[in-house]
Amino acid sequence: MRVKLSRARLRSEFCARVSELSGQDLNLCYQCGKCSAGCPMSFAMDLLPNQVMRLVQLGLAEDIAGCRTIWLCASCLACTVRCPKGVDIARVMEALRLLSLRKNIDFVSPSQMGQEAIAELPQIALVSGFRKFTG
Ligand code: SF4
Ligand code: SF4
Repeated sequence: MRVKLSRARLRSEFCARVSELSGQDLNLCYQCGKCSAGCPMSFAMDLLPNQVMRLVQLGLAEDIAGCRTIWLCASCLACTVRCPKGVDIARVMEALRLLSLRKNIDFVSPSQMGQEAIAELPQIALVSGFRKFTG
């Protein structure tokens, strides 16, 4: 992906919002990749955690809104304990999910789930899934 850098992009409102919601200084990330190397969900992600961090720094909100990574993040904190800069990446992922849900962008639509899946899945899994994936 080719990105045109500008001062405005590097100080975007989106980046400030994510920083405010997550309580993290996003500028600390220097792309060492340790978060991605230790992430147990990276095999299924379309963007690695360090790539998500870079997109946030660049203010590329649209690219993040369409990615699966923020939803697949299991909040396991493996990235957070590995980060040499002390960035709580799990909280950044949570902030990104919140921003999507506030725009009515759900990852799962209950009305489009098949009756068979609803009948087979444990109720606790459905409830916790809907809490995470729907607004
Ligand atoms: S908290 Fe999310 S991004 Fe971090 S290691 Fe776990 S699954 Fe990966
Ligand atoms: S471990 Fe921390 S500094 Fe390294 S890429 Fe991930 S968020 Fe950035």
